[in-house]
Amino acid sequence: MPTRNYLFYALTNSICSKCLVKVEAKIIFQDDCVYLVKHCPTHGQEKVLIADDIEYYKKSLEFIKPGDMPLRFNTPIKYGCPYDCGLCADHEQHSCLTLVEVTDKCNLSCPICYADSGAEEVSTISHQPRSHRSLAQIEKMIDAVVANEGEPQIVQLSGGEPTIHPEFFEIIDIAKSKPIKHLMINTNGVRIAKDKSFCDRLSQYMPGIELYLQFDSFENEVLQELRGADLRDIREKAINHLNEYNISTTLVVTLKKGLNDHEIGNIIEFALQQKCIRGVTFQPIQAAGRLEGFDPQKDRYTLT
Ligand code: SF4
Ligand SMILES: [Zn+2]
Repeated sequence: MPTRNYLFYALTNSICSKCLVKVEAKIIFQDDCVYLVKHCPTHGQEKVLIADDIEYYKKSLEFIKPGDMPLRFNTPIKYGCPYDCGLCADHEQHSCLTLVEVTDKCNLSCPICYADSGAEEVSTISHQPRSHRSLAQIEKMIDAVVANEGEPQIVQLSGGEPTIHPEFFEIIDIAKSKPIKHLMINTNGVRIAKDKSFCDRLSQYMPGIELYLQFDSFENEVLQELRGADLRDIREKAINHLNEYNISTTLVVTLKKGLNDHEIGNIIEFALQQKCIRGVTFQPIQAAGRLEGFDPQKDRYTLT
């Protein structure tokens, strides 16, 4: 009797990456890797690499702790996860890190942007005009986070590119008036590099803020593929300004398998020598939005 060429491990839920319908998924072990195999009635089978070390994967499942609950739930349980998201009372965790998107606009148009932001006035995907949120909307968003969390641990002002919002410093003033433990600003660094008076004003908020600075590579070829522009000069100038004003910074590296994973060591070595840098975050690329030609069965850079 023939046997299957994989080991079935568990059954779970997932969503179809095309239509976002909730689907059943098998977790299987095959060729020393862990895969999620899902089946959408409309889009067929999809196989996604989730780990390339089976023992590590199994070990990671042994760490279990009770989930922290938010102070408030905002939506009723009606259709099940993920359709009730808001958060609903069935959600197993609080929001340990909240992103508040203050604008859809950006001064870059990265080919990999999953927020569908960009420098063009109108989105090429949704065909909706891009806009800045008003101060009233932003305050309402931040108040919702505070009502849910009490004292939110980390709030990141994000976008789009938050530093191009015309009322950027008013937004920081609003955020600073709320009981947020750690306030961060996600930025591509373009304004930091080009506008020294902006850095000067930003430094006056130290030590109460931290920058989360996009920093993917030292190589033009990599930057072109991820960001659509040669940002080497921008990065250098931004880091020089942040060092000069000693603005606390975390570097954020988007990693794409086979493209810039060879630079991890160099980036850490570089970061260790910069006065302003307090940490480096490596995030495997999110295969969504404008990113094309990505095979989730082999191109995913997993945590293992
Ligand atoms: S800098 Fe960020 S928000 Fe702007 S286009 Fe690139 S990924 Fe999107
Ligand atoms: Zn589907």
